[in-house]
This record gives sequence, structure tokens and C-alpha cells, in this order.
Amino acid sequence: MASGASRFTMLRSFVNPEADFVIVGAGLAGLQAALALQRAGSSVVVLEARDRVGGRTLSAMASTSPDPSLVFDMGGQWIGPGQTEVHRLAREMDLHPVPTAVPGRTLWDLGGGAKRGSPRVPPLPPGALASVLLAVARLNRMSRRLPLAAPWEADEAPGWDDITFEKWLRAHVRTRGGRALLGLYVNGHPGLEASEMSVLDVLFMLRSAGSLQHLLHAQDFRLIEGAQELARRSALRLGDALVLEAPVAAIDQDEGGVTVSSGCKTIRCRRVGVCAPLRVAAEIAYSPPLPADRVALMRSRPTGVLMKFHAVYPSPFWRRNGLNGQAFSTSHAIAATGDNSPGDGSGRGVLVGLTGADRARSLSALPGSAQREALLVSLIDLFGAEAAEPEAFVVEDWSRERWTSGAAGGGDASPRTWTTVGHAYRAPSGRAHWGGTETSPEWHG
Ligand SMILES: Cc1cc2nc3c(=O)[nH]c(=O)nc-3n(C[C@H](O)[C@H](O)[C@H](O)COP(=O)(O)OP(=O)(O)OC[C@H]3O[C@@H](n4cnc5c(N)ncnc54)[C@H](O)[C@@H]3O)c2cc1C
Repeated sequence: MASGASRFTMLRSFVNPEADFVIVGAGLAGLQAALALQRAGSSVVVLEARDRVGGRTLSAMASTSPDPSLVFDMGGQWIGPGQTEVHRLAREMDLHPVPTAVPGRTLWDLGGGAKRGSPRVPPLPPGALASVLLAVARLNRMSRRLPLAAPWEADEAPGWDDITFEKWLRAHVRTRGGRALLGLYVNGHPGLEASEMSVLDVLFMLRSAGSLQHLLHAQDFRLIEGAQELARRSALRLGDALVLEAPVAAIDQDEGGVTVSSGCKTIRCRRVGVCAPLRVAAEIAYSPPLPADRVALMRSRPTGVLMKFHAVYPSPFWRRNGLNGQAFSTSHAIAATGDNSPGDGSGRGVLVGLTGADRARSLSALPGSAQREALLVSLIDLFGAEAAEPEAFVVEDWSRERWTSGAAGGGDASPRTWTTVGHAYRAPSGRAHWGGTETSPEWHG
């Protein structure tokens, strides 16, 4: 989907070339960092590569949509009860969170065909379910042993960082369905398979959210106005301190300060805050070169793949069939779906879906029409023939986004990343500071 031309394009020549701070990236992290610095009395310039703010949040209208008022959250969307900072920001920006829960049954396909079940308890045989619950309790207990700000310092960290989550699942969860379920629960965030993540990484994801249960409640609310509005309204407060279409190509430090260069301007500042995803931050030319551990961190991580789509129907037909629009599957092109219908459901019906890791890698390689077909085949299999002809269908592949190049963020460290270079996530490199969701101990990613 094309990102709309922005109302924030600034008159570049009016931006003061000398500033206390330059922030690279106008995603939620960069914008909040800039506003905090401004409130503290510093002068700030924010350089953003795209022609819009919001980064991995993108709330857009589709030209193909039958209803022009429908807003599709193509990236970050949901908010959990424990995500207090984003709730606070939403209140400050006069945005309205609404609960996402819809009455009805959830569809679960953990390898043996889709079955109806309760939203929270998958329809596994009692023995398999008991094994999953024991494993969840064990994972939560292990995660509490991690120091939040330095998970690599736990006594057990080297051992947990040495094995993949897949290997751990094989040892601790008896059934294939149980392993599939736990794999699904964690791999939606980083867009990676359980075989690509270390156990320590999964434990840190749980610690950072509070527990697996907290992670599962992270989709309890969404913003009526769309999540990108958090960024748009923050950007309005920055005024002409924000420069769009200004990809930073070089950061040069010397004894007196930092020179930050993008194609359209060069700014001299005291310090720079890089709030871009690790992989794209690695493409900036740094002088003097960054320390080896930082370079290794930015380059060593596997690239997660995450795709999100919306299908619009004349009504939320699944509700008539006793379904809540939620599905989890290990056998389809789609990993998970939810009901994103506007209002009380008396109008149009919108199914939102996500797919990640290997399944998204295969889809991502296909042309758009084949992607749509594969996703629709899955929707028909799960929700029935009425899913066959959506009025509109929009897909966003975040791995193809030049300035994201990956997935939701965080939680994507392959074995031995945390214990060898984890300390480099937040450690400043001279006058260069690192921000963004990947550096956050709370709700990392
Ligand atoms: C499909 C998907 C679904 C998600 N769902 C959820 C959800 O439901 N709930 C949730 O809490 N989170 C979710 N997330 C994660 C959430 O969106 C991110 O954690 C968050 O938006 C990251 O913000 P950020 O500011 O750290 O990074 P970003 O949003 O990536 O911002 C970085 C900014 O830096 C810019 N940039 C990059 N390189 C340069 C450069 N060289 N020069 C200048 N600018 C540059 C980019 O254009 C971008 O605007 C989801 C993410 C995805 C992709």
C-alpha cells in the first residue's frame, strides 16, 4: 500500500542547522525522545528517511476500500493493559483505545485441522494441555531470574543462550500440537521460527512483557483513530524541528561534536540519537567506526519477516456463525487472524491477519496476486466460502520496507547474541546514543 503524502513535509531551509541533538528516525521512539529533549530545553532536529512519520506504525486508507472512512493499521496496532506508557501517550494525544474482544469461538489449527475452542484455552487433549501449562509456568519462572536491564548477567544465561527455543520445546513439551502452540505464541513478534531464536531471547521477551500471559493480553485494545496517529500528533508538536525525506547516510564524530549528513542537509550537533531498527542503522557510515561489539550486534541478527493484511467484507459474517474472527494456525499461510470491524459490527466486517517467519518468507517471494490467493485460500478454509470475495484486500510486507527491513522488532536474537553482544544494545558509542524498541527493557519490540 502506498504511504500517503504527508502534511508534515517541512521547508528544509528554515531548519536551524546547529542543534543540541539530532534524532535519526521519526518512529514512536524517535518522536518521544525528541519531545522529551525539547521539554528539557534542548534544541532538536529530527531527520526521517520516509515521507511520513510513524515508522512501523502505518494507519492508512486503501484506494480500493468500499468505505473511505475505514482505517487499516498495517503495522503496530494493539495495546495491552500492561503497556502503560502507550496508554498514557494515547490519553495525552486525545486518542481512544477500544477493547478488541468479540463474543464467540476461536478457531485453532495446531496440526490436525481447524477446531473451535475458547479464545484463551486451545482445544488440545488434556495431557497435551497439561504439558503446555507446565512449560509456560516453567518459562515464566525462568524468565523472572533475568535482570531486566541486563538479561545476559543471569547465572544461567550462557546455557539458555546456547540452545534454540525449538530444542527446548522438544525437551519440555510432549506433543507436537503443544509445541506448535508455544511456537506460535512467541514467533509472531520477531517473525522468526523457534529454531532461529535462543531460549534466552524468548525468556527475555517474557520478562520484558511481564509473563507469557501478559504477552497474550497485548492485543486487548486498539486505537479507534489508528496507531500511527500517536506519531502524527506527536510530530505536530515538533513543528519545524522535523525534516522528512532526509535519510541519514553518515555520522561523523570529533572532539567538538557530531556532523550528521543526509542527502539534503548536514547538521552539526552535540549528540545524536539513532532511533532506527538495528539492520537499517547498520547501513549508516560511522566515523570513527563503531566498536566491534556494536557492529556485531547490528549485523548478526537474523532478519524476521512479518506480513499483515486486511480483508473487508459487507458484514462480519463470521459472527453469525458463532465465531469471533480469531484464528491461530500452524497449517495455513496465515498464522493468526482477528476481527478489526469498525464500531459495533453492524456495518462492514474486517478480518485482520498476520503471518511471519518461514511462511511469510515463502509468501514474500510471490507476486501480489499469488500472495492474495494464498491468503484467501487460508481464509476460506478457516471461515468458509463467504470469505472468498472480499470487497477490498490490502497486504503489507514489512521485510520489503527499505527503512524497516524486518519485523515487529526486538526478540530476534539468535543463539549467543545476548551473551556476547547484548551489552551493546544501549551502551552509547561516544556521542552517538541508541534508541528504538530494540533498546527497551520493557515491552522490548
Ligand atoms: C506488522 C507489525 C505489527 C505490529 N504489531 C504491534 C502491536 O500490535 N503492538 C505493539 O505494541 N507493537 C507492534 N508492532 C511493533 C511496533 O510497531 C514497533 O515496536 C514500534 O513501532 C517501533 O518503533 P520505533 O520508533 O522503535 O521504530 P520504527 O517505527 O521502525 O521507527 C524508526 C524510524 O527510523 C526511520 N529511519 C530508519 N533509518 C533511517 C535513516 N538512515 N535516516 C533517517 N531515518 C531513518 C524509519 O523510516 C522509521 O520511521 C508491530 C510491528 C509490525 C511490523
